[in-house]
Amino acid sequence: MQPAVVVIDMLNDFVTGKLGNERVRSVVEPIRELLAAARAAGIPVVYVGDAHLPSDPEIAIWGPHAMKGTKEAETIPELAPQSSDFVLEKRTYSAFYETGLDLLLRSLGVDTVVITGLHTNICCRHTAADAFARAYKIVVPEDCVNAFTEEEHRDGIEYLRRVYGARITTSGALVREWQESRAPAGSPTGE
Ligand code: ZN
Repeated sequence: MQPAVVVIDMLNDFVTGKLGNERVRSVVEPIRELLAAARAAGIPVVYVGDAHLPSDPEIAIWGPHAMKGTKEAETIPELAPQSSDFVLEKRTYSAFYETGLDLLLRSLGVDTVVITGLHTNICCRHTAADAFARAYKIVVPEDCVNAFTEEEHRDGIEYLRRVYGARITTSGALVREWQESRAPAGSPTGE
């Protein structure tokens, strides 16, 4: 298994801006810890965030948000990308749609997509749909995704599990797995 972590829409507008709310802030610290563990284990981290143009179809639905080139479309400071990370822009819900993500993941030998960010039932779901169609395995640490309401979050998680066969786990479990995978040779294997 070769995972990559995809960080979706952890942008100022989605956390503290016009589409932000208090409940989505719960994902910031778990994602920060997950990304630190991923980088330490050599697991690629890919940010894919909205960078909208005024003509994008979504603007009619949500109003202008995360417009390309603005402060609102930047990643929140707590999760600022590091030099080893990849940063892509998207213009609709899916992180795969015309972003180059699939080519990037395939060129890195990735077969498993760890989905984090916002929102469970919208962009995470559309990203999972496209990952599924491209035969990636899907992992969702449920404390690293969230939605506008608890009901939407719960429904979103259940949909990912049932329709895409996503493995629903936690950031803590993944961090432990990745730390163990880096354990030096000769250490106990637990067999
Ligand atoms: Zn958008």
